[in-house]
Amino acid sequence: MPANGSAGTYDYIIVGAGSAGCVLANRLTASGRNRVLLLEAGGPDRNIWIHIPLGYGKLFNNAKVNWLYKTEPEPELNNRQIIQPRGKVLGGSSSINGLLYIRGQHEDFDHWRQLGNAGWSFKDVLPYFRRAEDQERGADEMHGTGGHLKVSDVCEPHVLCEAFIKATQEAGFPRNDDFNGPTQEGVGYFQLTSRNGRRWSTAVGYLKEARRRQNLRVETDALATRVLFSGRRAIGVEYRQGETTHTAYAGGEVILSGGAFNSPQLLQISGVGPASLLRQHGIDVIVDMPGVGSDLQDHLQIRMQYRCTEPITMNDVINDWRHRYAAGLRYLLTRKGLLTIGAGYAGAFLKTRPDLATPDVQLHFLIFSADAAGAALHPFPGFIVSVCQLRPESRGFVHIKSRDPRVAPAIQPRYLTSRADCDTVVEGLHLIRRIMDKPVMRRYIDEEIAPGNKCQSDADLLAYARDTGTTVYHPTSTCRMGPDQNAVVDERLRVRGFERLRVIDASIMPTVASGNTNAATVMIGEKGSDMVLEDAKKSAPLAMSA
Ligand SMILES: Cc1cc2nc3c(=O)[nH]c(=O)nc-3n(C[C@H](O)[C@H](O)[C@H](O)COP(=O)(O)OP(=O)(O)OC[C@H]3O[C@@H](n4cnc5c(N)ncnc54)[C@H](O)[C@@H]3O)c2cc1C
Repeated sequence: MPANGSAGTYDYIIVGAGSAGCVLANRLTASGRNRVLLLEAGGPDRNIWIHIPLGYGKLFNNAKVNWLYKTEPEPELNNRQIIQPRGKVLGGSSSINGLLYIRGQHEDFDHWRQLGNAGWSFKDVLPYFRRAEDQERGADEMHGTGGHLKVSDVCEPHVLCEAFIKATQEAGFPRNDDFNGPTQEGVGYFQLTSRNGRRWSTAVGYLKEARRRQNLRVETDALATRVLFSGRRAIGVEYRQGETTHTAYAGGEVILSGGAFNSPQLLQISGVGPASLLRQHGIDVIVDMPGVGSDLQDHLQIRMQYRCTEPITMNDVINDWRHRYAAGLRYLLTRKGLLTIGAGYAGAFLKTRPDLATPDVQLHFLIFSADAAGAALHPFPGFIVSVCQLRPESRGFVHIKSRDPRVAPAIQPRYLTSRADCDTVVEGLHLIRRIMDKPVMRRYIDEEIAPGNKCQSDADLLAYARDTGTTVYHPTSTCRMGPDQNAVVDERLRVRGFERLRVIDASIMPTVASGNTNAATVMIGEKGSDMVLEDAKKSAPLAMSA
């Protein structure tokens, strides 16, 4: 039996030190007044590969920093189980992600507002994106400097990326040197959350500074196992560290920032979720909330693989010890070169049909090839272009499989269950072929390895997507914000029907942002922290007079 211990009383308890949790830990402790407890199930971010951008490839299978989730068999992907890596370490997924800095489209946030979420239009959230940002290129209307999240250009152009950019332009699309500028549409280089060749996770950017403050306590290897309630008021959290179970109390609020899989899991285990599911696992139902864990969205990516005519890809560097040594030395001496690259080098946001208002697909251009994420690179020159549909209609769920918080929940994104998603993916694959067929790109293509020339019809391409499609790691919306009955949090991120309980992480997105999701989650952390502090100010006179 685990021993029990009291871990004291705080103003705020934050569960999860990920992209959003680290922002909150910083902002809520900044005044020096609030006592904050930050619980993180993983450990410190000491693994060297966390801090070297290219090292993200080494973290896919590392259980010390990664929850290593996978989906249930996906019915529309031939019952394949899809990997779902999630950071389990200080910084959360911002410590293991691909570093691409993409906010999403202005229209995403205007849509959130249109769904009934006051305060979340693009005009409303832009100040938070700017406040978070330390943009290497300097400040302007769209960008900020001096923030905690450093954003930088790739260190140098690459000949293959140049060809891809030119070919995309020749296919009729504009060049775009700032995907986070006035418009997302076009082709260009990605920017990264890094500086001087080092990853800029939220643990590095926000938590490091906050940890110098006396009023923040950080507990690592601390798995929150239950939110404690008095009626409909959250009063604390039970957590397990090794064999010991601790109880910590919050005089102010309990804030869940465990991410799109773990926040709904913790709510369900604590008695807040679909009643039938909870009863099935012998959990006392506090409130029947079918929305907790529903509406899971994710970006499915389909990769096309090419054998390159010239030994200019990352495969050629990594597979030859002399080149590898030279790249390592260059990185050590100059902080430049291949080790500074994230999950994509160049990319594009394109419309599969000219009549669309905004891009509906994102292309990632990678200067290496491998059979799967994190797998050994091919022993020949190769590169990958992948497509993902930006606004999937398919919706899935996260449901506990056990009342034991150590047991992974059932994760079922239900990829490609919507006809529109299938059509967009097929159009996206045709689009890649159109670009690859431009002479400026074709000269670098020895062969399309996958899907290959035999795969031509729409049906073939869809079958290829079902056979090989995988996540691009953007699960969201499982504790969706909204004004409707099924929404889990309101527009101030308070769990509906409860006091002193919020969810602040990627799970609250009403719909997945059109792009990579870290920047939007950091923005949610920034905006959410202001809401917590504003609401505390409003209730302070009441508390004093009570
Ligand atoms: C492999 C990979 C590549 C990606 N690439 C990119 C990219 O290039 N660009 C981009 O913008 N986005 C990318 N993303 C997505 C992005 O990183 C996430 O959307 C974002 O980090 C989510 O932030 P979050 O705060 O919601 O959750 P997380 O950052 O995952 O944080 C949740 C934290 O809570 C902790 N936790 C969970 N449950 C508990 C519990 N019960 N008790 C205590 N602690 C708990 C977890 O260990 C974790 O540290 C990628 C993600 C992955 C996994």
